[in-house]
Amino acid sequence: MSENTPLLRAENVVVEYGSRRKANRVLHEVSLDVAAGECVGLVGESGSGKSTLGKAILGLVPVKSGKIFFDGRDITHLSGKERRALSKDIQVVFQDPYGSLNPNMTIGEILAEPLSTSGMDRTEARLIVAEMLERVHLPSNVIDRFPSEFSGGQRQRIAIARALVRKPRLIICDEPVSALDLTTQAAVLELLIELQRETGVAYLFVSHDLGVVRSICHRVAVMYRGNLVEVGDGDQITRDPQHPYSQRLLAASPVADPVLQAERRKEWLAMKDAQPAGAQ
Ligand code: ADP
Ligand code: MG
Repeated sequence: MSENTPLLRAENVVVEYGSRRKANRVLHEVSLDVAAGECVGLVGESGSGKSTLGKAILGLVPVKSGKIFFDGRDITHLSGKERRALSKDIQVVFQDPYGSLNPNMTIGEILAEPLSTSGMDRTEARLIVAEMLERVHLPSNVIDRFPSEFSGGQRQRIAIARALVRKPRLIICDEPVSALDLTTQAAVLELLIELQRETGVAYLFVSHDLGVVRSICHRVAVMYRGNLVEVGDGDQITRDPQHPYSQRLLAASPVADPVLQAERRKEWLAMKDAQPAGAQ
């Protein structure tokens, strides 16, 4: 594909839940690009449609209209077989580190599974698994242990290693650190940044927390009630949010600096006064 072709392109994507007679439109013509190696943050309050966009890209919910392209190829409506083949290139890390790993499999089996499914022999798979554990800074002796023996942060490292094992080009990270305590969050975010530098993988990084997204993403897209209301660089959105909803989100995002926090609060209050309730 040419240099200008984004790795991922969502074009006017519409998703509805419910029946045809009583449809609930959750995404309203959402368009968004992610370049190869880029980290794009997708931020918005709970229920705004962030996970739904991730699921549409992964083929987990049907797209009513609009198109999704991966590396220039239309992937909006794929057969099960085509979708499984694409899972080599597009992976996902979910929020819940407790629910996302099969409790009956060892870490070694969990990480080797995607490789053996794609036909790799066991010796080679074992080597790659060891390499992945090293990449996510887990000791090689975890290989014969079970998920229940690990903390939330360690499980998330295992989930990340599993996502990376087939060298994908894009990972949808859906609130990957939201269930972790703050110190663990910082360590896992740092790991994600490091892995991006090492492997060139792109992330669509979903979070309700603008602070998290800003610290790791090149660009940030703000979702409000199923609409993308602002897309820009993280610094710009933090310094000078254009859309009133981005301003509100920023004011609500916890920051470590109490002076800055107080300033943001003041700005928020001033903005709320200026914006009648219900205005977008
Ligand atoms: P977010 O990830 O931003 O919190 P979601 O994409 O999960 O938001 O949800 C967007 C909207 O779609 C919400 O109103 C939610 O209740 C609704 N929704 C999500 N999943 C389903 C589903 N499987 N069936 C019906 N409605 C759903
Ligand atoms: Mg969600």
